[in-house]
Amino acid sequence: MTTALFPGSFDPFTLGHLDIARRARRMFDRVVISVGVNPAKVTDEREIEQRLDAIRRAVADIDGIEVMAWQGLTVDAAREAGATVMVRGVRSAADYDYERSLAELNRRISGIDTVLLVASPEYSSISSSAVRELQRFGYDTTQFLP
Ligand code: ADP
Repeated sequence: MTTALFPGSFDPFTLGHLDIARRARRMFDRVVISVGVNPAKVTDEREIEQRLDAIRRAVADIDGIEVMAWQGLTVDAAREAGATVMVRGVRSAADYDYERSLAELNRRISGIDTVLLVASPEYSSISSSAVRELQRFGYDTTQFLP
């Protein structure tokens, strides 16, 4: 049985993230989504709980996907979850550059490999930061969210 960790901020968890989680689950027996918590940024614990809840609802119909919060290094979250591989999504060349160096570093410090899944074209323009920006100005973002 192979467990994969899908780490991220997921602030918020978008349809693009859901697509990656679903596709990862087709490749691995168990997928654990870890929500990275930066204690310096998070002032309200309820906000993290809400983020976890939203993800749990989004993946409720998929067997073998779990959700956890994690404060610390991603490779330690992987160990905690019993994951031997990590999954990330790539939307663009800029994503690729970032993900490549992250994957290289993570493998160097832990031996854990990262599988990069190419974003589906219908979701490749969705980013959490754009969703947050739209929400800040009162725009409806339901079309981007599960
Ligand atoms: P982080 O803050 O760790 O970069 P994010 O929550 O922004 O985390 O994203 C988690 C992972 O999902 C990253 O690998 C990112 O490239 C990927 N991702 C983000 N949006 C999409 C999308 N629309 N389609 C596919 N992958 C995505």
